[in-house]
Amino acid sequence: MQLNEKVIMITGASSGIGAATAKRLASAGSKLVLIARREDRLNEIQQEFPEAEILIESLDVTDYTAFETAVQDTIDKFGRIDVLFNNAGIMPNSPLAEKHRNDWQRMLDINVMGVLNGISAVLPTMEKQRSGHILTTSSTAGHKVFPGFAVYSGTKFAVRAIMDGLRQEEAMNHIKSTIVTPGTVDTELFNTIPDAEARSAEAALHKNVNRSLSADQVAAEVVHAIDSPDNVSISEINVRPIEQL
Ligand code: NDP
Repeated sequence: MQLNEKVIMITGASSGIGAATAKRLASAGSKLVLIARREDRLNEIQQEFPEAEILIESLDVTDYTAFETAVQDTIDKFGRIDVLFNNAGIMPNSPLAEKHRNDWQRMLDINVMGVLNGISAVLPTMEKQRSGHILTTSSTAGHKVFPGFAVYSGTKFAVRAIMDGLRQEEAMNHIKSTIVTPGTVDTELFNTIPDAEARSAEAALHKNVNRSLSADQVAAEVVHAIDSPDNVSISEINVRPIEQL
């Protein structure tokens, strides 16, 4: 199936990696379902690509019922779901001793339960089709822990495990699973770190990285995986700035 035939749902489509992926796919003629809370940002993408077939679903990924409604809307409009890119995430980092329990809960809810909500909402449709592709954004922090990153890393390790389980459980149904683990990408994500100390720890980690990746550079790799031949499963994409260790 060509990119211009595919029906693709993207969470976190209002900025950064999700928005860049949406724009690449809109240019390729894919049928898109753009998901995030900031509807105005999603509308801006739609206005940028007036020819593209785009459904806007403004929802919070922690709301499973809203996700199920979005899936039904997608089937009503496009008749199928070929791809879900589970990309929404936040990173309010802080040292554990500061006990920012609300931030821990939000990260678990959005970065982990949000991904599980997406998977469980689309899986029955993909199983019925006996084809589909689910991608989830983890991080280099899903391979390696840094001070201040314990909970964020925990969520990103968790989704790697979940996606590998999904790959094994759904291989015979021809449903692909791809985990995307980017290094530092120049996006709004860093605005979600409220703690000044954690923000400077984050900056120190990457002090030797002169040039972060652009969101579009990550999007190019995501689109490459989405466009892979039916029998090819790209199960992990590690992409980082050349100077990032
Ligand atoms: P952005 O902050 O630009 O994008 C995050 C997206 O997630 C936004 O579209 C935001 O939309 C959406 N989002 C956040 N919370 C929710 C929610 N509760 N419900 C629905 N949507 C939500 O950052 P990035 O593009 O960098 O982040 C995308 C993914 O990449 C994240 O999972 C992040 O952890 C991961 N990542 C980023 C790296 C980086 O260096 N930037 C490195 C490695 C991984 P809205 O606020 O409108 O709801």
